Amino acid sequence: TKGAAMVTAVASRVQAQRKQIDKVLALFRLTQEQLVGVRNKMRVEFEYGLKKDTHPLATVKMLPTYVCGMPDGTEKGKFLALDLGGTNFRVLLVKIRSGRRSVRMYNKIFAIPLEIMQGTGEELFDHIVQCIADFLDYMGLKGAQLPLGFTFSFPCRQASIDKGTLIEWTKGFKATDCEGEDVVDMLREAIKRRNEFDLDIVAVVNDTVGTMMTCGYEDSNCEVGLIAGTGSNMCYMEEMRNIELVEGDEGKMCINTEWGGFGDNGCLDDIQTQYDKEVDEGSLNPGKQRYEKMTSGMYLGEIVRQILIDLTKQGLLFRGQISERLRTRGIFETKFLSQIESDRLALLQVRRILQQLGLDSTCEDSIVVKEVCGAVSRRAAQLYGAGLAAIVEKRREDQGLEHMRITVGVDGTLYKLHPHFSRILRETVKELAPQCDVMFMLSEDGSGKGAALITAVAKRLQQAQRE
Ligand code: BGC
Ligand code: MG
Repeated sequence: TKGAAMVTAVASRVQAQRKQIDKVLALFRLTQEQLVGVRNKMRVEFEYGLKKDTHPLATVKMLPTYVCGMPDGTEKGKFLALDLGGTNFRVLLVKIRSGRRSVRMYNKIFAIPLEIMQGTGEELFDHIVQCIADFLDYMGLKGAQLPLGFTFSFPCRQASIDKGTLIEWTKGFKATDCEGEDVVDMLREAIKRRNEFDLDIVAVVNDTVGTMMTCGYEDSNCEVGLIAGTGSNMCYMEEMRNIELVEGDEGKMCINTEWGGFGDNGCLDDIQTQYDKEVDEGSLNPGKQRYEKMTSGMYLGEIVRQILIDLTKQGLLFRGQISERLRTRGIFETKFLSQIESDRLALLQVRRILQQLGLDSTCEDSIVVKEVCGAVSRRAAQLYGAGLAAIVEKRREDQGLEHMRITVGVDGTLYKLHPHFSRILRETVKELAPQCDVMFMLSEDGSGKGAALITAVAKRLQQAQRE
């Protein structure tokens, strides 16, 4: 009959649509073999970055940080810390008490308006100093001359612990006249311009390094720092003899890998999708930070949005209507991904979140959106796992160990808030580095506290040198 024929037609159309959706999702599914490939390529890039000859062209920069030791518990005093690099800017007062390894912190969060992130360097640093002034006022500390540690979460070339030349901006920052400049000098000059207080800037550190330090304060086995947040990066303790850029063969130094740049030489092209390319092209730094763009919070939502646009164009979502909202960059923040993927959420609630985003969805739509989010975040966690496996395996081999235990200090909203990310990351590391026992340690407020700890250590060493 006619009715039965129509039912069959609808059923086969639904089936065909499902096939099209599956085809897109499959692009994000990495085989074990592909993941092993990513791990091995990352390992090659680590070596390129460390070797003098290959370093200038290396995409994983392996930057020496001049952080050579962990806190030993004798550090003490009051320190200021600045934390710039994510969505917010923070100023902290950190009090470290020796012996008991206890740390007290007071902090204030300041927003950095878009026009300042992407204005001139002078404006950016003037704004930072304005925030410091507010904080000192607020804490009743005006006129106090405290040692300061500056967590600056961008790639910097360092020649000592208190110097850092910005190589290039990443994430959402684009202030002019900063690249190629020493950010400590820029901060000092801004403090001078204001002419209200003086600060003793002792250290500039990456957030990964601060995170490793904070966890290392409690667990001396912590030799890796990982950030899975707005941006993506990892640092670890390396043998001095393997660091060709720095004189000396004794002991260890922390290397800021800047692994976000992995793939910028095309070595990940085989797993990149058209959606990754679209996200890259629409970003502030096209062609750069390709691994970061496949893994970090700032971009995962954008990948999802690109997929949703394509599925809509194919008539598979939102009744084929691309709304103005869906065309808007940045609507899918990490927190929405985390919410949508939460297992406790009923589909109706997923629909409500989509509604909040201005996306009018049917029940079927919301199922597809959830699947898309899952595919994108799973791939991100697996890629993180492959990178992490590369570093722990390297450390194990370098030390000639059959088996190695190591702790990784972690920070970042993606790791902390996403319902599946951390589990998939851990599972992947286990599979790709079976001879390593990797413990993950969440860092509470890692980057700010870490900067203070590093400052405390640097101060202690300075004093020891003077005596
Ligand atoms: C920066 C790194 C930073 C990471 C996490 C990246 O974009 O290049 O220096 O550690 O984000 O904040
Ligand atoms: Mg050396």
